Amino acid sequence: MHDGLSLGTTVLDIPTLFFVAVSIAALLGFLLIFAWLQERNTRALAWWGTAYLIGASSMALWISPKPLVPLPPHLPPALIFIACGMIWNGVRLFHGRRVLMVPTLAGALVWLGCDMLGLTQTETVRATLGALIVAVYTSSIAFELWSERRQALYSRIAAVVVPMLHGAMFLMPIAMRMTLPERFGDGWLQVLALETMFYAIGTAFIVLLMVKDHQVTVERTAANTDPLTGLFNRRGFLDNAGKLCVQQGRQMKPVTLFMFDLDHFKSINDRFGHAIGDEALRAFANSLRATMRAGDIVGRLGGEEFAAIVPAAPDVAAKIAERVRGAFEVAGRMIAGRDMNATVSIGADTAIPLTLDIGRMIERADQALYRAKTSGRNRVVLSGGITIETPDLPAPHSLPQFAPRDDVPVLAQ
Ligand code: GH3
Ligand code: MG
Ligand code: MG
Repeated sequence: MHDGLSLGTTVLDIPTLFFVAVSIAALLGFLLIFAWLQERNTRALAWWGTAYLIGASSMALWISPKPLVPLPPHLPPALIFIACGMIWNGVRLFHGRRVLMVPTLAGALVWLGCDMLGLTQTETVRATLGALIVAVYTSSIAFELWSERRQALYSRIAAVVVPMLHGAMFLMPIAMRMTLPERFGDGWLQVLALETMFYAIGTAFIVLLMVKDHQVTVERTAANTDPLTGLFNRRGFLDNAGKLCVQQGRQMKPVTLFMFDLDHFKSINDRFGHAIGDEALRAFANSLRATMRAGDIVGRLGGEEFAAIVPAAPDVAAKIAERVRGAFEVAGRMIAGRDMNATVSIGADTAIPLTLDIGRMIERADQALYRAKTSGRNRVVLSGGITIETPDLPAPHSLPQFAPRDDVPVLAQ
């Protein structure tokens, strides 16, 4: 019998495997720290990079035949558990949650506590306890990743499957020891070393992929969002309205477009100042959020003009608009501690959209809004009826004209 994993005639001995695993983990640690130096806003990268470096150095301490620093034997595993906890905390931080130090250190504390109480005398107990701690951390990481809904689905699945497999790999030796104690050999150590290596590489790639995904989402969101209210800006609104029109048009179902304009807003600014005017705009955005459904598309087109588009026919649309108007009539009475009595006028137009160009719907909703303004404000006016909105066809006179050619004889009439 030899002390290693046989691949044909080559033997991968345990020290070599662990040496490679340590080097790879350290390299990836530096790679993640380097990525953090370039992207300082993503502090999670610093946590992950440090965790890799701690993991690599504790593994090096663990396996080195002549330790450089004389350390008690239970310390390197404790450091590895801290590294696992730091990776978990990094994921929390990445998702905008708080850093939790106690659970980060809990694995190491349990390990050291059991050691002090003399519970970890045998190799089996040590391996079982170690595997359990790692499994708890990996499943917590998987849970954190899975519960994050904003992430792209493909990286979510990869990010959950890899830690779960790793956790299972760590738990496997326990099951083997329990069920087949006599057959349980050292072979698992090599498998574990190889698996740890692949896991470390896989995780680093997933982490970098997630960071990239996140940056793209942040940039895209910023380009489509109105910073004052957090609603879509004109561009975000038009893009998403177009998508809704395509969905509804395919099934010959209607959409209703609302145009909202705050009443006498100039006078609000004049009486209370621009900053309080901005508060009124935020309050109206909140009324919209509170009264519209999550799938409805709502945006601020500019100034005190807002728009929304919903998959609804005029009867339902009238109720939605009335709900918004009524909600803001209440919310607008008092804004930022000022007696304001702000209100909104609403114009709406319904169409079955066979095009994603909503320009003409906006025009008709604007005309309805104008009627709402001229008939007394703080009211809803529908443009009436349902238009079938078709794409603009080129006008006949824009077809190419052919000049008569001199060289071709003109036939007599
Ligand atoms: P109406 O009832 O007819 O809509 O009257 P109005 O005063 O609301 O109409 P108008 O369109 O004349 O006034 C819009 C005002 O909105 C003028 C402008 O100073 C103000 N405004 C535009 N953008 C902003 C903004 O971002 N913040 C604040 N506070 N005011 C804005
Ligand atoms: Mg206006
Ligand atoms: Mg106005």
